[in-house]
Amino acid sequence: MEVILRLPPNQPINYLPGQYIDLIGKGGVRRSYSIANAPRSDGRITLFIKKVKNGEMSYYWFNDAKVNDLLRLEGPLGTFIFREPAPRNIVMLATGTGIAPIKALLEQLDSDADLINNRRIFLIWGNRFEKEFFWKHEFENLDLIYIPVLSQADKHWKGDRGYVQEILIESEIDLKDVAVYACGSEDMINSAKAELAHAGLISHNFHADAFVCSS
Ligand SMILES: Cc1cc2nc3c(=O)[nH]c(=O)nc-3n(C[C@H](O)[C@H](O)[C@H](O)COP(=O)(O)OP(=O)(O)OC[C@H]3O[C@@H](n4cnc5c(N)ncnc54)[C@H](O)[C@@H]3O)c2cc1C
Repeated sequence: MEVILRLPPNQPINYLPGQYIDLIGKGGVRRSYSIANAPRSDGRITLFIKKVKNGEMSYYWFNDAKVNDLLRLEGPLGTFIFREPAPRNIVMLATGTGIAPIKALLEQLDSDADLINNRRIFLIWGNRFEKEFFWKHEFENLDLIYIPVLSQADKHWKGDRGYVQEILIESEIDLKDVAVYACGSEDMINSAKAELAHAGLISHNFHADAFVCSS
């Protein structure tokens, strides 16, 4: 689900692309959500929310939430932000709704020619099934190299198969000259970190945000 939050005009939040907020729902339930857009002039915030079976906050989003509901939030939080100086290759790895902060980072790059700076920018986005690719990239300036990947593809899928970090390791990208920004499940982050380090990625060039469960 895509949710757009409108903030009180006198209380904007000044955040950096890649950061997240904590939303506090009924009964004090608190869940983190990454902001899926770079700061906009109208101050609005987009979230991409996955439906989690038996999830407390998921129940709110997919059953109760109404336009103009009032929510409490805390933020901005987190240090998953673009780092300079950066190598020549920038690789964004995302699984599922982990695309949210990656989209915000890509919007930041798209709007700042100094950040693009002749760099090659890749997005490797993994899902299980093709129908789960719920967002399409459209950038004005960014010449993004986009690689969609499926872990449970059927026989009609013509793209890459497997896990996002495997696709990066098998690619021609020189792991000695790359910064990786990874966002998704804790399992994906842990596997990607270990496998990429083993394949030659310099450890301080791995930046990640794991969607750890709160319960
Ligand atoms: C920094 C950060 C950023 C995050 N950003 C996002 C975001 O942008 N979009 C988003 O959808 N979520 C995001 N999350 C995850 C989110 O905060 C919640 O944990 C998640 O949505 C589940 O909340 P819930 O209340 O619906 O389920 P809960 O009531 O917390 O969990 C219900 C059951 O589902 C299991 N579970 C929890 N999460 C998952 C999952 N992802 N897959 C499978 N089973 C699960 C739990 O272990 C539990 O058994 C982020 C988490 C962190 C830490």
